[in-house]
Amino acid sequence: MKKVLISLICLAIAATAFWGIKKYRDNQFNISITLLQNEFPVGKSVEIQVKALATGVYKEEAVELAPEIGGNVNWNKVGEYTLIVTARYGKKSKTENFQVKVTDTEAPVITLLTKEGYFTLPGGTYEEEGYTAIDNYDGDITDRVELKREGDVIHYSVTDANGNSTSVERTIVYSDPVPPVVTLIGEAEQTIMRRKPYREEGATAEDNFDGDVTDKIVLSGEVDTAVVGDQKITYSVKDSYGNIGTAERIIHVIERDRPIADEVEATSKVIYLTFDDGPSPYTRQLLDILDKYDVKVTFFVVYNGTEAIRDLIGEEFRRGHSVGVHCYNHDYNVVYKSEAAYWEDFEKMQAVIEEQTGQRTNLLRFPGGSSNTVSRKHEKGLMTKLAKQMGEKGYYYFDWNVLSGDAEAKPISTDEVYKNVTNGIAGLKGRPAVVLQHDIKKFSLDAVERIIKWGLENGYTFLPLDETSFGAHHGINN
Ligand SMILES: [Zn+2]
Repeated sequence: MKKVLISLICLAIAATAFWGIKKYRDNQFNISITLLQNEFPVGKSVEIQVKALATGVYKEEAVELAPEIGGNVNWNKVGEYTLIVTARYGKKSKTENFQVKVTDTEAPVITLLTKEGYFTLPGGTYEEEGYTAIDNYDGDITDRVELKREGDVIHYSVTDANGNSTSVERTIVYSDPVPPVVTLIGEAEQTIMRRKPYREEGATAEDNFDGDVTDKIVLSGEVDTAVVGDQKITYSVKDSYGNIGTAERIIHVIERDRPIADEVEATSKVIYLTFDDGPSPYTRQLLDILDKYDVKVTFFVVYNGTEAIRDLIGEEFRRGHSVGVHCYNHDYNVVYKSEAAYWEDFEKMQAVIEEQTGQRTNLLRFPGGSSNTVSRKHEKGLMTKLAKQMGEKGYYYFDWNVLSGDAEAKPISTDEVYKNVTNGIAGLKGRPAVVLQHDIKKFSLDAVERIIKWGLENGYTFLPLDETSFGAHHGINN
């Protein structure tokens, strides 16, 4: 019993000693608080770099503590603050104050903008495409960006309120991505009859950088008016940066509405009856005779002040005859007064024809023929000049190789007109005959029916003149 008691007492002493030692040991810990950094970037959720340790006095052992953070720090505002850190271990605690700074050390970001499709022409002026500057702390500071140009490089720099700077640069790239623009002269789509000549009117080309590049236009494709169908001409031009501009013209070649002289049987012969100076009150009767034999002829018309007579030009056209310009004013001294006077008169008559037929004509007969000498006293070389211009402008002039004699000062008879014409045609021995008559002379027109009968009986074909016809050109005398 006594033994047991002793044992219990010993155990109690041991337990008390153990507890006492443990308590003693616990009270022998030191708490240390260390701040690993005292500057913090503004606006970031920063894990406070605090290390709090409880360190034992006997052994190299330490317990990491979770400190409590206090104080007046505003992490979103640059400034100096007091950070209060408290660490507890057991019944012990320690509090320490630290002076900390919240700072802005981040530089602003400049973003260069680019405009879609923007380019600077070589030698041209760069137009700023734009930029933005955003700072982590100051926000949008685009208006504080400064630009400096050095050669082809633009430097953009900006400094935020806390002295952080950024600069970026842009190198201007010069280029010309724009092709020249090709503009066709005349209609982009044209319809012409088979075997009628195609006249190339050309095109112009303008480039944004090179300017007028018309002389660099290259044409590809050819119009063969012998072939019915759609044909294409492509106009292309390359600028000095290699951009190619193109345009196309479509030519619809359609079947002719009348025969063509050199396609008429080789054995047959062709007569082109032509009538100048009309229309007149006799013209309608002539049209009826022509209809009777289904013969188509050519009228080289002049202006007539009477509307009803003028309307016969439209009538001639609608009945399938060719209409060409003769002149507006039949006074040679007016028409051939000068080059300008001639063209003025020509255009006035074209306008009348267009009004009557709905289209301009490309056929004409010079007053007095291309061999006239009236123009000599007004302008030297005028007929040579005009004949050349006709070709350039796409007009076809016709003289004659058979004279009816109906314009002589001394009137002749219908019989004589008939004889002059038929003998003249026969004398050509099968070569095409271009006969000159005037539909203002009744006696001359009275011979037409006999002339047609004679021609048909002798195997001739009557055709109206067109661009493909024999011109019967005279020698030019001025
Ligand atoms: Zn005349």
